[in-house]
Amino acid sequence: MHFYLATSFIFPRSLRLRLFTLCFVATHMPLLAYLGWGFASGRIALAEFILLTMATVIGTGIALLGIGALLNPIHALAQTLHRGEGEAPALPDVGDVIHTLYAGVQRVASATRERLDDLHQAAHEDPLTGIANRRGFLAHMDALPDDRRRGCIAIIDIDYFKRVNDLLGHEEGDRVLASFATRLSALVRRVDMVARWGGEEFAIFFQDCIEDEASWSLARIASRMRSEPIGRVQDRPISFSAGVCRWTGGELDAALRRADDALYEAKQSGRDRVCRAAPILQEL
Ligand code: GH3
Ligand code: MG
Ligand code: MG
Repeated sequence: MHFYLATSFIFPRSLRLRLFTLCFVATHMPLLAYLGWGFASGRIALAEFILLTMATVIGTGIALLGIGALLNPIHALAQTLHRGEGEAPALPDVGDVIHTLYAGVQRVASATRERLDDLHQAAHEDPLTGIANRRGFLAHMDALPDDRRRGCIAIIDIDYFKRVNDLLGHEEGDRVLASFATRLSALVRRVDMVARWGGEEFAIFFQDCIEDEASWSLARIASRMRSEPIGRVQDRPISFSAGVCRWTGGELDAALRRADDALYEAKQSGRDRVCRAAPILQEL
């Protein structure tokens, strides 16, 4: 495309004439070189000059005819494209075709990029709640720069959620899930990452937080669940249990497992509470 644009000053309206000009100049190079050398050295021979000129003229003719014939199908394509676009039936130049094709390829490339972005987003987003799904959460964690790979991970589970479905219906269950996601997202900082872990479980990465801060943040959310319930079952505001684990950039799976164990402990000890993962015992 660079050469195409760089040579557009020669017959800017016609690529065919531009090609013919380049071809004409190129095929005359041997003749011009011979003439230059002949005049410089004074050893020009008439018979050689006539022979070389004839060969050049014939060669140029063949090259021009060949290029013309090769361009004809593109010309036909140009007509088809312009007819397809509903434009005036004037015979378009081959250069227009290249522009049209180039613009078309760019359009397709940009549409493909957008489609890939959509697919990527769909793969990383939970359609019900609009927040990241488990894959999105893990991709986010994976992409964190070294200096941000520390904080707290919380695994959160809505208490007695099955009763919401059983007593109020699955539609209400879906609404509660979406409201809970909105509640979590609204009450954490922008740098924190909220995701739907699966079913009625959610995960939060509290960036740069120690356990006290993450637990305090979760306690604030729990308090809001009581003062402004997102729903009620059996006359009780919907609550959640959570397990929190500190993460300092090591193996993420291990931290997630420990947060999950802490969540289990929260469930076992009565629900509607936040438990911290047991500290790792250091070997002496
Ligand atoms: P626990 O306090 O021990 O967590 O009890 P629970 O009832 O919350 O937990 P359980 O695992 O027994 O039930 C979870 C329910 O969540 C079962 C499943 O049907 C429901 N669920 C999972 N995903 C969805 C969803 O996308 N929409 C709806 N409406 N329900 C869902
Ligand atoms: Mg669960
Ligand atoms: Mg539950």
